[in-house]
Amino acid sequence: MGNRRFTADVVVTCDADDSVFAPGVVDTVDGRIAWAGPASSAPVVDDTVTVEDVGGLLMPGLVNAHCHTPMTLVRGSGDGLPLQRWLAEAMWPREGRMTPEDAWWGMTLGSAEMLLAGVTTSCEMYLFEEAVVDAVRESGARLVMTPGVVSALHSSGSDRAGEISDFFSRNHDPAGRITVGIAPHSAYDLGVEAVAELADLARSLDTLLHIHLAETREESTELEDAYGHSITRILHDHGVFGGRVLAAHCVWLDTDDIELLADDGVAVAHCPVSNMKLGSGIAPLVAMGEAGVTVGYGTDGPASNDSLDLWEEVKVAALLAKVHALDSTVVSAVETLAMATRHSAAAVGLDDTGCLKPGNTLDMIRIDLDHATFVPITEPDELLAHLAWSGSSRRVTDVWVAGEKVVADGEVLTIDMERTLAEVGERALRLARG
Ligand SMILES: [Zn+2]
Repeated sequence: MGNRRFTADVVVTCDADDSVFAPGVVDTVDGRIAWAGPASSAPVVDDTVTVEDVGGLLMPGLVNAHCHTPMTLVRGSGDGLPLQRWLAEAMWPREGRMTPEDAWWGMTLGSAEMLLAGVTTSCEMYLFEEAVVDAVRESGARLVMTPGVVSALHSSGSDRAGEISDFFSRNHDPAGRITVGIAPHSAYDLGVEAVAELADLARSLDTLLHIHLAETREESTELEDAYGHSITRILHDHGVFGGRVLAAHCVWLDTDDIELLADDGVAVAHCPVSNMKLGSGIAPLVAMGEAGVTVGYGTDGPASNDSLDLWEEVKVAALLAKVHALDSTVVSAVETLAMATRHSAAAVGLDDTGCLKPGNTLDMIRIDLDHATFVPITEPDELLAHLAWSGSSRRVTDVWVAGEKVVADGEVLTIDMERTLAEVGERALRLARG
């Protein structure tokens, strides 16, 4: 890859200082960022550096902190049903017929959709982990693969923990594009003891535990009645939150639950579009942020959203928080962009993506500013407002992951889109018919 310099009209770093440089420069050495800053103070470079004047706006790729991407194969089915009926009547019968090859094509299509929208990383909770990893090795995206554990397939007699440990040893590569965690579906599905055992395994591997938590009001009623506490406190009491934990949804939390998550350092994947579509509720985004909980954004599966375009969460999460609080000042444009980038990266356990700063891997997107949705800009803050509210995913033109270009001029370079669309269409028909 060598040494490269990218110059742009604007560089939005999404770093801890929310730095914006206009015009800006990003220097890289072998796929890692060496320097990012204003063009006026860029270091002098010699002729061994390849200079690309890309214009437009450069910013970090977005990080989708919670999804089940191969469910592109079941997108649209069971539309309108509430969560438990939607799972039992629409999702599980179709997913039960799915083969690893189906999952590979479903993941490939979803990976293309995300890359084209400027989402460079996804944290996947799914079965068929070998197929998902294979698909992403080819698509060129960054992946946190957390193989799912569900009661219907992995109750007594299965050695799912052994399978996952083996998968971890073969695929976990923090210096590369793929890391591996563990994903017990939920305490209401697996039981508290099984979740605690998997949490022990995640701790022993020093990796991420990824679990659904408090998505709907009713899901954990039995456990809560039996233990006399909220599901969040039950998991805390059983030591589940003792390692690195990513909890998806976290809609039904009270003040004590939020304090527990903050004290235990549990990160949250906030999935407002999925929560709204399934009628699950409104997660306490502002309260979690005030308590110091790390919150990133997830689309959830493409069958409950129904899109993998995380720019929708950038807008909807903030708007939902504002209307919930009856306060337009909560969750600013800068804050919602940070949650989709560096906070999402931290939530999924990655410390070298999600912002453009020296040392980070070059996971970067270019946005074309020559468009109605970016006019006017009478002061710098308005540019960030346009990014957050005006439909930026439609303007993503180029995408780099680990320094490699994977999208150019709105075309994904790593995937045969025509064939992928046809394969997923045909395979989805077979899954639907049974
Ligand atoms: Zn989910």
